[in-house]
Amino acid sequence: FAPWLDANEKPLIQFKNVTKRFGDFVAIDNLTQDIYAKEFFALLGPSGCGKTTMMRMLGGFETPTEGQILIAGQDMAGVPPNKRAVNMMFQSYALFPHLSVAENIAFGLKREGKPKPEIDARVEEMLRLTRLTKFAKRKPHQISGGQRQRVALARSLAKAPKLLLLDEPLGALDKKLRQDTQFELMDIQEKTGTTFVIVTHDQEEAMTVASRVAVMDEGEIIQVATPADIYERPNSVYVADFIGDVNILNGHATRAGDGYDIAYAEGKAPLHAKTTSDLGESSKCALAIRPEKVSITAAKPAKVTNAIKGKIIDIAYLGNLSTYHVEIEGGHMIKAQTANTTRLERRSFTWEDTVWLSWTDTAAIVLEG
Ligand code: ATP
Repeated sequence: FAPWLDANEKPLIQFKNVTKRFGDFVAIDNLTQDIYAKEFFALLGPSGCGKTTMMRMLGGFETPTEGQILIAGQDMAGVPPNKRAVNMMFQSYALFPHLSVAENIAFGLKREGKPKPEIDARVEEMLRLTRLTKFAKRKPHQISGGQRQRVALARSLAKAPKLLLLDEPLGALDKKLRQDTQFELMDIQEKTGTTFVIVTHDQEEAMTVASRVAVMDEGEIIQVATPADIYERPNSVYVADFIGDVNILNGHATRAGDGYDIAYAEGKAPLHAKTTSDLGESSKCALAIRPEKVSITAAKPAKVTNAIKGKIIDIAYLGNLSTYHVEIEGGHMIKAQTANTTRLERRSFTWEDTVWLSWTDTAAIVLEG
């Protein structure tokens, strides 16, 4: 559920038990999901998990084998793409090379036979929105990749669709430009109030732009939540591992006080995790701990609940951060990440050092193992 929405709001998009098969292959498996107006909703998952198929069904380019898709309460069965209040921006922007930026943006409006003054006003508005006014007369080959991406966006928004589908929209841009453009996308989405559904396999991108992220695997949505919740409260090892970096310790959980004691190695004191998640009295589990939640010290910390001794095997210096690979007894490897706020800090440990890794009882997530 989207926490910023009022409880009476109806979803703009409803997938109801949607299955899509290609022959025997199940690309989308009995999927039910609501998306609300004005959301920036990201479909995130590895290659082949069914993101594009969901998008193409929304756009009307594929038909569900079973189930229903509703847009604004209307069943989309049999409604062709051009009769839906939906526009799709493809990975290759497919701009017309012989038309100017302004003419590209005007293209769809002209085809609809809108009066010229109306078209001109709308094109001008879109040029302003995407900061392309001074490039209006140029042809696509006379502008940069980032600018071409904005032309494609302006063109997709010109007809004021209720819903814009973006399939890897920033895929062709280099990393820096991609990051800048993500903020522009968010800004434009907010200004226009259009619902954006974006497909990406780049988790950082999904986390940056989206109000909610759906993490998919093999035709199913595994978790839908805000970026912060996906990161802080993943519902499974799959999600914890897909988003960001994580240490997973497999073990056995036994209910203890406000959470669980986790036995992770023979003859070692159990770890403790405070949690509201319910694995029953005793069960196999996986403990997920983000590297930045693991402290690394030379001496055993006095007050922290969980502390494990280990040896530094590898150090990755990343400028702002350093990641230490620490082997603990039992052969497990744990990653600990520290911020390099001082030069001293990054020099404080070296290979083969014996160190203590520690984290608080609320830092780790107890998941079904
Ligand atoms: P990517 O990130 O690589 O684009 P995706 O998550 O978007 O992947 P889809 O394109 O939705 O994945 O494809 C999901 C699965 O369905 C894939 O295994 C793909 O091979 C299969 N598939 C998609 N379209 C067809 C088709 N027309 N005929 C047969 N199989 C298809």
